[in-house]
Amino acid sequence: MARKTVAIDAANIGTIPARRLRVLADRQPREDGVFVAYWMTAARRVQWSFALDRAIGWARELKRPLAIIEVLACGGPWDSDRHHRFVLQGMCDQARHLADAPALYYPYVERMPGECRRLFGAVCEKACLVVTDDYPIASPAIKSVDARAPVRVERIDGNGLMPLRAADHAFPTAYAFRRFLQRALREHLLDAPRSDPFAKVELPRLTSMPGPIPRCWPAASNRLLAGESAALAALPIDHRVSPVSAVGGPTAAHARWRTFLAKRLASYAELRNQPEADSTSGLAPYLHFGHISAHEIFHSLARKEGWSPGKLAEKASGSREGWWGMSEPAEAFLDQLVTWRELGFNFCEHRTDYADYQSLPPWAKATLAKHARDSRPYTYTTEEFASARTHDRLWNAAQRQLVTEGHIHNYLRMLWGKKILEWTPGPQEALDVMIELNNRYALDGQDPNSYSGIFWILGRYDRPWGPERPIFGTVRYMSSENTARKVRVAEYIRRYSAETSARPREGTRSVKLKRKRSTEDRHGNACSSPVDADL
Ligand SMILES: Cc1cc2nc3c(=O)[nH]c(=O)nc-3n(C[C@H](O)[C@H](O)[C@H](O)COP(=O)(O)OP(=O)(O)OC[C@H]3O[C@@H](n4cnc5c(N)ncnc54)[C@H](O)[C@@H]3O)c2cc1C
Repeated sequence: MARKTVAIDAANIGTIPARRLRVLADRQPREDGVFVAYWMTAARRVQWSFALDRAIGWARELKRPLAIIEVLACGGPWDSDRHHRFVLQGMCDQARHLADAPALYYPYVERMPGECRRLFGAVCEKACLVVTDDYPIASPAIKSVDARAPVRVERIDGNGLMPLRAADHAFPTAYAFRRFLQRALREHLLDAPRSDPFAKVELPRLTSMPGPIPRCWPAASNRLLAGESAALAALPIDHRVSPVSAVGGPTAAHARWRTFLAKRLASYAELRNQPEADSTSGLAPYLHFGHISAHEIFHSLARKEGWSPGKLAEKASGSREGWWGMSEPAEAFLDQLVTWRELGFNFCEHRTDYADYQSLPPWAKATLAKHARDSRPYTYTTEEFASARTHDRLWNAAQRQLVTEGHIHNYLRMLWGKKILEWTPGPQEALDVMIELNNRYALDGQDPNSYSGIFWILGRYDRPWGPERPIFGTVRYMSSENTARKVRVAEYIRRYSAETSARPREGTRSVKLKRKRSTEDRHGNACSSPVDADL
């Protein structure tokens, strides 16, 4: 039976910028729908969210209740207790935050792959329309959205300061992307989502989800939301990658951001490459799960800096400094948060092959192919890499930090990747090992910037560097010895030595590498590249 719809001009609902809206199923809202659904999959927050603004806008227009359904799916190759606990902590946080809001919050955790898709179908049966998040990587949660749904489905892009669809191609370098930003970002900078989207909003209330939903797809229990080990143990995810001490969720994200702004930003430009200085924001996992928005970060930084749009430089020179019209540390931070972070989103938006070796630039593929059969001084299996059993103390320390804490400092992350390239039988195998280890252990893994960082190791966004070397060809080279000369790492190595760190887990997905060793590292000590590698 055909459902009744209401004809509404969708253009101004929730006043979000038109470029951030992608209509997946283009239908009019259903008149007999019970509620407006916000199917939350990526922007896991209820402040500074274009998707939530849009959903509230529709609920007001249609005079219907709003249901915010935050879903945590399983079935991804790297789903683990670590990532699940972090997201669950965020869900717990949202449940508290929304307790008195004029919306029903429904946290749903999939117990078997495929349940979210069925729940999505059931939601579509009852909803006037569905608003969901746009994200350029197809996580299991994103894949639960069915574009053939019988109701209107809208995807909203709240990923960064620049709308994903403002560019029409993938940029090959950070410099080219920065120039583009400097020309085009001005018109988007003041388009911000609402900091307090429920302020002065009155909506009809929904006390529970209608129909068979609560029975067939019950909301996550308090035990699960608390991330209790026994509750996690019942889920079909990797239980050997254990939770870390960092707490997930918008509240923890804000606390981290406030501390960074007050105490560390001032020395960011000077110290951000020093692994022992603890001078970076640590926001990557929170940005990855959408617990904090790039817009909020930008606006509070701008406030602290006394910034106004009139301070933007007229000329788009592509230079890292001087365009924003802010202090040196603030500009250095924005170059990471905006240029580098959004460059990765730009690539994944325009290139479906973002995770394929073939997506490397032609010069990098050519030089790596030429040296693919060069003899390697050491080769290790994925398991040996995972359990930090290489000959190199600095590399092992970085891997142990990844396994025990879920992150590696950016500078050492570069070294970590370069050595994997050097110590695997070929560049394709190196890529497989990096993706496996990064995405399995890093809290910020499976992000567009996981692929930016990993592919940068192999030449993406970079240029050829001389002299041509074995294995690397003209791809930029790094060595532990040179790193130890450039940045302080002695204390870092001590902190993450085998004696002080927990043993990494066994059983990482094997990429089946043969093992071969020689006693001598022929090129261990010869970094000629100016490694302010920008990454
Ligand atoms: C081999 C390799 C793998 C990487 N894997 C990931 C990953 O899985 N997820 C991820 O988010 N980043 C990844 N990066 C990029 C970078 O290491 C992290 O974003 C950064 O270390 C996060 O720390 P922070 O939040 O303290 O950063 P800050 O220095 O405080 O920077 C603020 C924010 O800017 C963004 N940012 C900073 N540096 C970079 C960068 N080089 N590229 C892109 N965005 C950046 C991040 O969102 C970060 O949170 C990888 C880099 C390499 C070399």
